Amino acid sequence: MPIKCWSISHFSTAFPDYYRSPYLEARLNRILRNNVVDLNNSRLHQSYYTALSRSASAAGTIILQGFDARKITGGASGALRQEFRELEILDDIVRLRYDGKLSSTVIGDRRNTLISCFRKWKGDHYMPSGLHKAIRWGKADPFLESNTGDIPWRILDRTVKDLQSEADSKAQVVTANKTSPVSPTAQNLKRKSAMLEFSPTAEGIHKKLKATHFVDETPSIVLSTPKGTRWRNNSCAYDAVVSSLFAIWLDDPTTQSESFNNLNSQFLGPLANGFARHHDGEFTLDDVRDFIRRRLQRSAPDEFGWGREASVHSVLERVLGSDLPILSSNLHCPNHHPVDRRQLTVQNCLITAGTDRAGSVQEWVDIFDNTRASKCHICDDFLVRKHWFVHNPVLLAFNVSANIQFINHSLMIPINENNFTYKLRGIIYHGESHFTARIITPAGLVWFHDGMTSARMEYDGILSSLDDMCSCRSKSATVAIYAMTGT
Ligand SMILES: [Zn+2]
Repeated sequence: MPIKCWSISHFSTAFPDYYRSPYLEARLNRILRNNVVDLNNSRLHQSYYTALSRSASAAGTIILQGFDARKITGGASGALRQEFRELEILDDIVRLRYDGKLSSTVIGDRRNTLISCFRKWKGDHYMPSGLHKAIRWGKADPFLESNTGDIPWRILDRTVKDLQSEADSKAQVVTANKTSPVSPTAQNLKRKSAMLEFSPTAEGIHKKLKATHFVDETPSIVLSTPKGTRWRNNSCAYDAVVSSLFAIWLDDPTTQSESFNNLNSQFLGPLANGFARHHDGEFTLDDVRDFIRRRLQRSAPDEFGWGREASVHSVLERVLGSDLPILSSNLHCPNHHPVDRRQLTVQNCLITAGTDRAGSVQEWVDIFDNTRASKCHICDDFLVRKHWFVHNPVLLAFNVSANIQFINHSLMIPINENNFTYKLRGIIYHGESHFTARIITPAGLVWFHDGMTSARMEYDGILSSLDDMCSCRSKSATVAIYAMTGT
């Protein structure tokens, strides 16, 4: 079997984390330019594979002594052929995705669902080019698809044993609606716990027993679902903010916890800490929402009274307040007459100023001015306040209630000589005294959340295929949330 390698950056660009198989993961983490191996004492072909797959190329591979060639020649078992076939298809998906040739309909959060979706798109007879003849498939030796149907399963943890007798009489086995089997390994639990839904029956027994992954109605397309909170005590403004920020925090919990805290240590830092504790199974996401709500209430009891409705703008104004200036601005006369050029700064990542001539969020940032009520002493024209970014925070939220007809999927934010790229990650909608939200994943999948209906999200489609993000289910966009992705 030839050693095939992709560079790490190649993978990172092309492939979200959840598409990687454990084998690919192992290869990505440990690819070596020079790989010294001793195969002689390895017992199985898997050991040969593991040792050799750490090599970046055959040229850098040094095999210390002779080895038993029979372990890697003389035919592969059906299961092994299947494994290599699946790896070849996953490689093919990576390549097509990197080249921008993968259909946007090919999605899935696990190997079997992703491969199944890919084969539906390409047809059952499709084989990646350059497939070794030993693993080619056909009528006599067909490609066997893993089961993508419903299989009941359960996750056990430490406390289950103690509660065994009690739980036996209650709902201990959590059957998730339309899920595929997931190995309940510690690694899976850790990685996937972010997308968990609490089972209403199990929740009463203990909070850590969770059901993973509910599924879109589309057959055999299984999606990683972002998680939202359940409406309680007029919490919709908090639901929308917490659900949107949690999805962004999940991109990289360690880095985001630090960035959130650096941006705002009064609210955003503690919120990130709450997300981490939820991630570890200590709190529900609803607990985290109530925690930040109480914190806001303590800081401004009139604005955030318990049980009373709040506005998303006032919540975000506090949560996204920044210790550093984000915007600077000055006044000028359109006819270039001298005016008081005293600069004002804005220390907030919720951007509300400068919308006068904007049709889209990008135009807003590009023009970024407001006509003032005051006039130039010389020409009597209205003065204009011009804004510009002086800092690139990890998050930016734009008040899109006024003037904005198009919410860009990505933004270029200029600061001095640099441009920083931001990706659309959430939109909060308002109508009939209620807030809802759309969450956009890094892969561009759009999910709808209404805490009043359920904590569960509804899949709306792929961002690039949705024409109008300014309205949703007869509510209008009021805030668009972007996260920085790089320069
Ligand atoms: Zn003037």
